[in-house]
Amino acid sequence: MEKKYMNDSIVQDIADAKEITWVNPEKKPWKEAMNNLGVTGEEIDDAEARLNRFAPFIMKCFPETKEKEGLIESELVQISRMQAYLNQANEGTVRGTLLLKKDSHLAVAGSVKARGGIYEVLKHTEDLAMEEGLITQQDDYSRLADEECRQFFRQYKIQVGSTGNLGLSIGIASAAVGYQVIVHMSSDAKQWKKDMLRRHGVTVIEYDSDYSEAVKNGRKESDMDLKSYFVDDENSKNLFMGYAVAARRLKRQLDEKKIRIDEMHPLFVYIPCGVGGAPGGITYGLKEIWGDNVHVFFVEPTQAPCMVLGMATGLHSRICVQDVGLTGQTHADGLAVGRPSGFVGKVMEPILSGEFTLDDRWLYEYMRALVNTEDIFIEPSSCAAFEGPVRLEKAEATRDYLKKHGLEAQMEHAVHIVWATGGMLVPEEIRKEYMNTRL
Ligand SMILES: *Cc1c(COP(=O)(O)O)cnc(C)c1O
Repeated sequence: MEKKYMNDSIVQDIADAKEITWVNPEKKPWKEAMNNLGVTGEEIDDAEARLNRFAPFIMKCFPETKEKEGLIESELVQISRMQAYLNQANEGTVRGTLLLKKDSHLAVAGSVKARGGIYEVLKHTEDLAMEEGLITQQDDYSRLADEECRQFFRQYKIQVGSTGNLGLSIGIASAAVGYQVIVHMSSDAKQWKKDMLRRHGVTVIEYDSDYSEAVKNGRKESDMDLKSYFVDDENSKNLFMGYAVAARRLKRQLDEKKIRIDEMHPLFVYIPCGVGGAPGGITYGLKEIWGDNVHVFFVEPTQAPCMVLGMATGLHSRICVQDVGLTGQTHADGLAVGRPSGFVGKVMEPILSGEFTLDDRWLYEYMRALVNTEDIFIEPSSCAAFEGPVRLEKAEATRDYLKKHGLEAQMEHAVHIVWATGGMLVPEEIRKEYMNTRL
């Protein structure tokens, strides 16, 4: 073990499944961090331009995106009633403005995975189509939806390992292009997600094991087939860049709402974390725009805190939650990941502010509170994010963080964004079941 963090009391607390607040000791000022991350702003530009090229195609395949002209983008809404509720329940800790980024309601896949997952399928599609001479970058990409092109894509396979939502996103998008799709689902995946995929003509292979095992098998099967492409959630830079584009669009939404972000108006963003791709990509995108004025915290379940375990030990993907005696099992199916992405953990090392972990029962409490106060339903996994604003000014570690960064006086003008990562596709009867779940 290269770092001696294993003796750290925070690692002991993680192993004991305690709710922890961790501030990242490796975080650097943005100016120092930005040039050594192994990812660049040009790569986000490239991803954004590609999504724009595909907009006519997306609009054709998914008419629900017409209003946004083929962009798959979610709303940013203020949730003052939820803020009042949280303050009442927690004695007034959330100051400033509380906003919800509703990736829970993204078109096509109903989760944050509609960003990275669909982007990666489109990127692969462009690569194949250009190689075959079906399109050039100047063409109207809607022609890729023609029967002739669909026939071409039909020869190819896309495979992915998933706890549910990534499978939905890749499955629905790939089926729309015309690919054969195989989704390798971990034991955490909900039945309704498998059913929905099968209705889209996707082959679902079920595993008794966890996410890492599903990924390993999926990768192996795909590697044996020359015409198969594996979407590698643990290592994919494409996924990461698809997620990163979110920040550019968020900037436009904040500008439209005349919400300023600067030294006097710091931005705090809280994102539920599984393997790390979605929250990591979004974080990089946010830092690239707002640098030191944005502070990003991930939130994970106490039984599957793989990213904070990887970061606090410095071991990243060389450690998993089972190594410290945790089960990896959680009601937050979207976050039920035992081993973090090594690629993402390394990129986060100098830029992530910190992490919170929480017990599963709060997921349902936050979920009910959001329905009751704002009439917005999001799935339990994505409710983890609410623990961020609640704990920021309560926990000693984050209070010290605010002090150290000279932010205490600015908290009245702070902007908090809770990133809602999934929920729109959850069937009515499952919502009812969740609404009545008390742990
Ligand atoms: C996948 C997912 C996340 C986290 O994304 P990762 O890339 O796995 O870290 C968060 N919330 C929901 C609902 C998800 O499906």
